[in-house]
Amino acid sequence: METKNTKKTYKTGEIIMVQGEPGQNAYIIEEGRVEIIVGKPDGNFHSVGTRGPGTIIGEMAIVDNEPRTATIRALEDCKLLEITREDFARRLKSADPVIQTVAQVILTRYRDTIARAEILRESLTFPGPEDMEREFLRQTNAAETIKIANDLKAALEQKGQLYLHYQPVICLKSGKVQGFEALMRWQHPERGFISPGVFIPIAEESGIIVEASRWALEESCRALKRIEGHVGYDHDLFMAVNFSSTDFAEENFLDHIYGTLSKADIDPKKIHLEITERLLMVQPDNAKQTLELCRKAGLHIAIDDFGTGYSSLSYLHYYPVDTLKIDQSFIRNMRKDKSAMALAKSIIMLAKNMDMVTIAEGVETEAEAKTIRDMGCDQAQGFYFARPASEKDITALLKNWDGRRLLAS
Ligand code: C2E
Ligand code: CA
Ligand code: CA
Repeated sequence: METKNTKKTYKTGEIIMVQGEPGQNAYIIEEGRVEIIVGKPDGNFHSVGTRGPGTIIGEMAIVDNEPRTATIRALEDCKLLEITREDFARRLKSADPVIQTVAQVILTRYRDTIARAEILRESLTFPGPEDMEREFLRQTNAAETIKIANDLKAALEQKGQLYLHYQPVICLKSGKVQGFEALMRWQHPERGFISPGVFIPIAEESGIIVEASRWALEESCRALKRIEGHVGYDHDLFMAVNFSSTDFAEENFLDHIYGTLSKADIDPKKIHLEITERLLMVQPDNAKQTLELCRKAGLHIAIDDFGTGYSSLSYLHYYPVDTLKIDQSFIRNMRKDKSAMALAKSIIMLAKNMDMVTIAEGVETEAEAKTIRDMGCDQAQGFYFARPASEKDITALLKNWDGRRLLAS
């Protein structure tokens, strides 16, 4: 039986649900924002967060028949779509078997999480507002993730919401810009700017990253051509593009790269493939084979976030690697920790012995730039030199670039 979900409207200030009362339905917020308020045993009330369009509230009601765990109040005039427990159960029963299984697994885990949280709540002190917020976020995560993945898919089809910023990579000897790293940006129409730290992992998990990476490679190749056209081809710049293990597992990965480079008429050596150590660990044989073919085609291979714990330098011998990007955490820790400094130094020395170029990431101060330069690091990237910026800003920056000044003395 097909049911139509009821729409409900609430005026600013109205209470949508009350903590401790029974609830039979969840709501999807279509318009407006709400506030989540939790009452503590001492009688005080705490606002633990707000939710806006596209999020779900009161969703525990479609899992269990327990009282509401929070009070929710409309901060603006709201339009909500009601999902009753019965309606949800009926839809689940008639759903595609794969959807059914996945939903049931998620719901069972959800129940377990709630049960665990209940035990903790009884045995320890009552959680503070931050714990409740964290728990709430964790619980709404599955729905949020699906929503973000869907929106990202739409963003890729529409174009305009997704764009690239470029961050210069600087030679520590000459102060010249050697190339850029392309970094994805997403301006969501309702939620505003969403950080790549949030949407990239979701894109990877859902497989959307494959299409996103293809777009990023095509767009950054075109941008490199345009930038060189503006500042002069004698600059000989590179463009580093990030790829994930999901990309590498894709059958047509190489064909697409070859196709894009020849269409854009770009010399493959100008394109640096950035992959993480983790990728090498999870797909050792596939990665080796693919990287060797990339190398044969002339592409440059860089290991991103190096030193974050997965592989060792000797392990890298197995792969055709041109560049090591030393993770930001080394530069950060160098300030207070002498052993981080020693470790960075040994990475640089060993990489040199293996004929690899080293790039220090996350350089924020002049002192850091000089320290790593004196350690023999070849190149650097970081806010001290330039923040990631639009193609237009990067082109302007390059025209007036005086890197020597940044590394004087
Ligand atoms: P990443 O590849 O390690 O990129 C470098 C990150 O460090 C960027 O963050 C950049 O803005 C930031 N950064 C650069 N200089 C500094 C500095 O001096 N200090 C600090 N604190 N940060 C600095 P962003 O743009 O937020 O990207 C985060 C991560 O998201 C990237 O880390 C990368 O793993 C992923 N990502 C971004 N764009 C793409 C993409 O197109 N494809 C894939 N697969 N991943 C991407
Ligand atoms: Ca990177
Ligand atoms: Ca990195």
